[in-house]
Amino acid sequence: MQRVPRDELAELRREAARRRQSPEERSPRMVTDPPWVVAPEIHELRVDPALIDPDAAKVVHRLVRHGYEAYLVGGCVRDLLLGRRPKDFDVATSARPDDVRYLFRNSRIIGRRFRLVHVMFGEGRVVETATFRCNPKPDEERFGEDLLIRDDNAFGEAHEDAARRDFTINGLFYDVHRGRVLDWVEGMPDIERRTMDTIGDPIVRLQEDPVRILRAIKFCARLDMGMAPRLYDAIVHCRGSLAMAARPRLFEELMRLLREGAAHRAMWLLWEMGVLDVLLPELSSFLSDDEEQAQVAWRMLTALDRRGVGHGPLDDIVLFTALLFEPMRESCWGLRDRMEAAHSFLEPVIERIALPRRIADATRRIVAMTPRLESRRVGRFSRTGLYPLAQEILSLRRVALGEGELPATPPPCAPTRQRSLRGRRRRNDPG
Ligand code: ATP
Ligand code: MG
Repeated sequence: MQRVPRDELAELRREAARRRQSPEERSPRMVTDPPWVVAPEIHELRVDPALIDPDAAKVVHRLVRHGYEAYLVGGCVRDLLLGRRPKDFDVATSARPDDVRYLFRNSRIIGRRFRLVHVMFGEGRVVETATFRCNPKPDEERFGEDLLIRDDNAFGEAHEDAARRDFTINGLFYDVHRGRVLDWVEGMPDIERRTMDTIGDPIVRLQEDPVRILRAIKFCARLDMGMAPRLYDAIVHCRGSLAMAARPRLFEELMRLLREGAAHRAMWLLWEMGVLDVLLPELSSFLSDDEEQAQVAWRMLTALDRRGVGHGPLDDIVLFTALLFEPMRESCWGLRDRMEAAHSFLEPVIERIALPRRIADATRRIVAMTPRLESRRVGRFSRTGLYPLAQEILSLRRVALGEGELPATPPPCAPTRQRSLRGRRRRNDPG
């Protein structure tokens, strides 16, 4: 039999005793506000409790019962206020990770640099619970003109945690206990105006973390929001600093832009602001050079957005191949060795955004196989895991050309193992 450690046993007993007490005592309402160093703007605005994840509410209630500050924060508050169903619920608290761990036996501390607590519930549900953090002090962490944040792991107060977040709409806290929104960052007016803006000077905030450029565009596209003119100008000004960002983060954010069902709008914003020139200049110049050809690429993105609706996320290979299909097709045009041409096209992209080899290989092979697929000379390729994904790309293209309708069901996800994607290779096989 597994023994329960003595301190956990004591905590379990205390918890059981608390449960036996009267309901009012069990969850005493915070009657006075916490001793905030900076008072927030308070909006009495009770969100329908049915929309709040009961696990996250449980985490908040227990922390508050034990005398800590705890709020729902970030994307979930933004989505609730915009009338959208949040993907997940995050909690921020004044409790330190060890305190949180102590209160929740079903939890574990994750992260070495900044320690977060994952409180676990049934069926793999997790509520991420983070201690309030502050932005690093300018003189300690920043060197001269270089604003890039390399370290952001100092604990702080609630208002500091709000201020370190990226956009005003992402910096709102929801007090579940009292049913009110706490606003230290002027986020509520931006929610009401449906406007994206940074917390603080956009040039500074984008230089601290250039990936915020892609995040701004993602939220604008996904939430169909406008952008504050100063943020727009700052993105145009700072776009070059994306080259300094961690490359795997660039790839991950790019995929998020494609996955949200707003790929067309997101790519259009990237292109219009010149960010695509930094991220994918191959695509950017293709879109600028020939309007007729560009139209097919744009319509492929529209088809991709429609395809994702109601079917859940599409395979990353389909998303990425659809994005670059038209310029890659053009770069292979009329060449004998299409595989080599596709290879030369993608090599700088792999370098620039840390495109995983698994996706690069699959994209190259689909593009190289296109003429055979179109003339139905597929041979053994039809037995590989890539075949249904290639068919999906061609059907998206037919829709983009106005020649077909989207099929009712999406293809199965590609197997992740390399061998099954490639199948057995034959000599002279263009793939
Ligand atoms: P989504 O619905 O896509 O998950 P989200 O707003 O929850 O949107 P996350 O990436 O999950 O986005 O981040 C959670 C929160 O953490 C954000 O709402 C924001 O407050 C903060 N955050 C995330 N990334 C950054 C960043 N690069 N700089 C500052 N704050 C950030
Ligand atoms: Mg989130």
